Amino acid sequence: MYIDKNGDRWYRGNLHTHTTRSDGGKSPEETKAAYRAAGYDFMALTDHWKYGENIDDDPSGLLILSGTEYNFGGEDTLGGVYHIVGVGMKSDPLEVISKSSTPQQTVDEILKRGGAAILAHPAWSMNTWEMLASIKGYTMTEIYNSVSGAPRNCRPYSGVVIDELALRGYTPKLCATDDTHFWGGEQTLSFIYVNLRKNEFNHDNLMAAILAGDFYATQGPRFYCRLERNGSGWNFVVDCEPEDNVERVTIFTNRPWENNRSVLGKPVTEAVFELDPRDTFIRAEIVSGDKTGWGQIFRIPRG
Ligand SMILES: [Zn+2]
Ligand SMILES: [Zn+2]
Repeated sequence: MYIDKNGDRWYRGNLHTHTTRSDGGKSPEETKAAYRAAGYDFMALTDHWKYGENIDDDPSGLLILSGTEYNFGGEDTLGGVYHIVGVGMKSDPLEVISKSSTPQQTVDEILKRGGAAILAHPAWSMNTWEMLASIKGYTMTEIYNSVSGAPRNCRPYSGVVIDELALRGYTPKLCATDDTHFWGGEQTLSFIYVNLRKNEFNHDNLMAAILAGDFYATQGPRFYCRLERNGSGWNFVVDCEPEDNVERVTIFTNRPWENNRSVLGKPVTEAVFELDPRDTFIRAEIVSGDKTGWGQIFRIPRG
């Protein structure tokens, strides 16, 4: 947890984790202890087809959100691979969801039970934008999934397919998770910071902020994105915490060509981008050393 200059409290958590209850390398207790030691405030244990309970007073000191990963589709990506992660449900969707359910039924059941539905690692699954658009109502998707990177895998970053989606007017919230399995470098790497503002840190307030999209994805850099009026147009502003030594802020929009796409500095504390009337969406990536942060997608109002 950290407190920003407005006094808002931001809590760190990993929403996608496996343990020895499915194909993860450490027991639930070992996993929770390692994340707590790394400075996390909350996490969800999301073993495949196994419900991890909500625990408010876990001995690890973490707040534990309930969780499960429901994976559909097999080795043939042309047949459609969809991995849906549910977190924070008040009861177990596996009471009605099974491997013969559809991804849409699964998302609907997660939401019905008060949870957040994550469309996991679209790049790893080789999901196209059409596949992402075909599922309705999910809370967020993973722009970065640590375990989908080297050495075990090859497609951790889903920014391209997410931009293709945003180009067509879909703007899901973006998260980053570890999808911890092997403890081969993917652990305690990519997470979200959730803004609880001045509210108490508990299950209901945390889930309310997550469902409202009041969070951002990062591996360390802390930052705040906003649109600001500039005459009849708009500026996109990214403020960075000075002590994080951000060296680059880069924007992504619907247009393939754009001048001044990055602000560089040592450090960058504020990056201001004057938007073009043809821009329809914008998001930012914030880089400090080997760590990246990913801001949410903003739709740019007309006029
Ligand atoms: Zn998965
Ligand atoms: Zn997973």
